[in-house]
Amino acid sequence: MRILIHGGFFSESSQSIETKTQKQQALIQILEKAKLYLADHSALQTAIYATSLLEDDPLFNAGIGSQIQSDGKIRMSAAIMDGESQKFSGVINIEDVRNPIFVAQKLMDEEDRVLGGSGACQYAKLSGFDSFSTQTEERQKEFIAKKQSKGTGTVGCVVLDKEGKLAAATSTGGKGFEIPGRVSDSATIAGNFANENCAVSCTGVGEDIVSNGLATKIVTRVTDGMTLKQAFKKSFSELLPYDGFAGAIGVSKNGDVFFLESHPKVVYASYNGLENAVFM
Ligand code: ASP
Repeated sequence: MRILIHGGFFSESSQSIETKTQKQQALIQILEKAKLYLADHSALQTAIYATSLLEDDPLFNAGIGSQIQSDGKIRMSAAIMDGESQKFSGVINIEDVRNPIFVAQKLMDEEDRVLGGSGACQYAKLSGFDSFSTQTEERQKEFIAKKQSKGTGTVGCVVLDKEGKLAAATSTGGKGFEIPGRVSDSATIAGNFANENCAVSCTGVGEDIVSNGLATKIVTRVTDGMTLKQAFKKSFSELLPYDGFAGAIGVSKNGDVFFLESHPKVVYASYNGLENAVFM
């Protein structure tokens, strides 16, 4: 069993040591809960569960604590992918729900599995998700000060369960101050992808991640025979020509775990089957 979670980029220059410690502690606590949960749940269920806990923590830029867009609204995106069935589902630019990842989960059972904007909001409402404002005072202050909160960080999780099944989940409040309607990578196969060989979740500048097709590319390379590390290295090297800004976590079916970032620093925590580790 393996679990990796990430809490997006952390900026040493614009965030305090205290925030760093808080994020490290939050990641370890969430990892501990996810480990217990994985004992009797699948990779997909665990990836969703861990991501919902990250969404609930205002330290991270997903769910509660999401960044505010240029028109003052929060629009969130989230996706899941089940490696076994190779089904992907997600919401793009959803508003007023506490956990976008649960709406993505609900969509897994639908024929139409990716919804955007007003359709996603309407679907959540009709499916019984309560209206919930994920705006925090901190994000509001940053918005008023017109200061982009660098490093608040998208969240994600990849899991290998005891049956050898893989899953990925990713959730974001976006870049902050974006043009309304902008589509993040997080609910695309560039930002979140899994099959029976490998699962990957990304963070960083969505436009760079989409240009590289990062998550799909890493998973495809592992499927075609590269090790997880080789696939990460090669795919990240392809960000270099345009100085792409990205980080990713991955797990493969043989139990390898790996993460990489193009720029410092993403916050990660991992469980490798024996012990926990936290990195940033
Ligand atoms: N990837 C997210 C986006 O572009 C942002 C992030 O990861 O911090 O919307």
